[in-house]
Amino acid sequence: APDRAINLSAGPCCLPESVLVEACQGLLNFDGTGIGIAEISHRTPEFVAYIKEVEDLIRTQLDVPETHTILFAQGGGALQFSVVVLNLLARHRLLHPDLPNNERVLDYIVTGWFSEIAINEAARLGGARTNVVVDARKHSAVNKFDNIPPHDAYNFSPDPALIFYCENETVDGVQFSDGTDPTDPTSFPFHLLPKDKGLLPLVGDYSSSFMSRPIPRLADHAVIFASAQKNIGPAGVTVLIVRNDCLVDVDAAAKLGAAPVPHTLAYKTLADNGSLYNTPSVFAIYVTGLVLRHLKAMGGVKYIDAVNRKKAEKLYAVVKEGVAKGVLRPRVEEGKGRSLMNVVFDFNERELQDRFVVSAEAHGIKGIRGHPLVLGTRLSIYNAVTEEQVDTVAAYMQAFLAQL
Ligand code: PMP
Repeated sequence: APDRAINLSAGPCCLPESVLVEACQGLLNFDGTGIGIAEISHRTPEFVAYIKEVEDLIRTQLDVPETHTILFAQGGGALQFSVVVLNLLARHRLLHPDLPNNERVLDYIVTGWFSEIAINEAARLGGARTNVVVDARKHSAVNKFDNIPPHDAYNFSPDPALIFYCENETVDGVQFSDGTDPTDPTSFPFHLLPKDKGLLPLVGDYSSSFMSRPIPRLADHAVIFASAQKNIGPAGVTVLIVRNDCLVDVDAAAKLGAAPVPHTLAYKTLADNGSLYNTPSVFAIYVTGLVLRHLKAMGGVKYIDAVNRKKAEKLYAVVKEGVAKGVLRPRVEEGKGRSLMNVVFDFNERELQDRFVVSAEAHGIKGIRGHPLVLGTRLSIYNAVTEEQVDTVAAYMQAFLAQL
């Protein structure tokens, strides 16, 4: 629609227009029931069938094996920073009941704003000690989160209860590479993970890259989580892919001394009840399903991966022009783990930056001011931002640079 802006917000971001039109109809009448989707019980056969379809759309497009269960939770990605610790510490307690807490270790790979929040939350919860596997700031010339550190910098514990990483750092614009080339220094160091200690407790925060491309070594993960509001739907639902050995009895673990876990946060409770233990975010799950159907019809994750790559290349090419002109600098240099989802850069002069943002708004391009704490400009180009829109944005940037 002509009155819609090009929305490059870091999240919530835009959704496919055809999906929004369809969702309007669903608000009035879901699946021929005569009841709108925001009004219908989550226990109706129609909704139960729908949530199964959404699960299946994720399972088939990401090749999720039967060893893993797909769940829908609330509380966003940020709540998972704590929830995953509670559940995996309960698992660890069942495996090693007699280990003193100071010998239980939670490993964190700290590559940006969100992984740092995650480790701080884990430290607050207690019950284990946190270990920084690597801190990307120590591998930065300016002590910032502007890189994926080299493989030889990682220091994993021998038998941790959890190994956490954030695949795409939304604020900083840092992302692991897609894993197709394990010798790429910005790939996740799967080959360095501790061996011979049973199934790995590997946890990936995919909140800002979920369904934007295939997930490398998905089957090796204990938990993958992603809040919906970047690539797949409205805020309010968080998708979890949990390996079945992590669906543990938290009450049995509590009897052995683990922290009690609210049942609404226990992965096993969610799994035992098909994600319907309590009322889920029905509307958010509905729209997520429409987005995933739309993605499948377009050609699925492999198709969108190719489009997303082209979109990012186009914007980074213009950023390069700005660098050559001496007015810009990218937050993350090429080859250091630049994100395909969040293109972050700084103008050398603050005044130019402000002019760039204000003038973009006048051109119908919105949501590009960087995170308030790190500033800069951030162009977020999730799945629903089209290649044509990216062309418009690139042309705007070029015109802006040309008149300087
Ligand atoms: N992790 C990442 C990578 C994110 O981008 C975000 C949200 N911006 C979160 C976690 C937190 O998610 P939420 O706001 O849904 O709690």
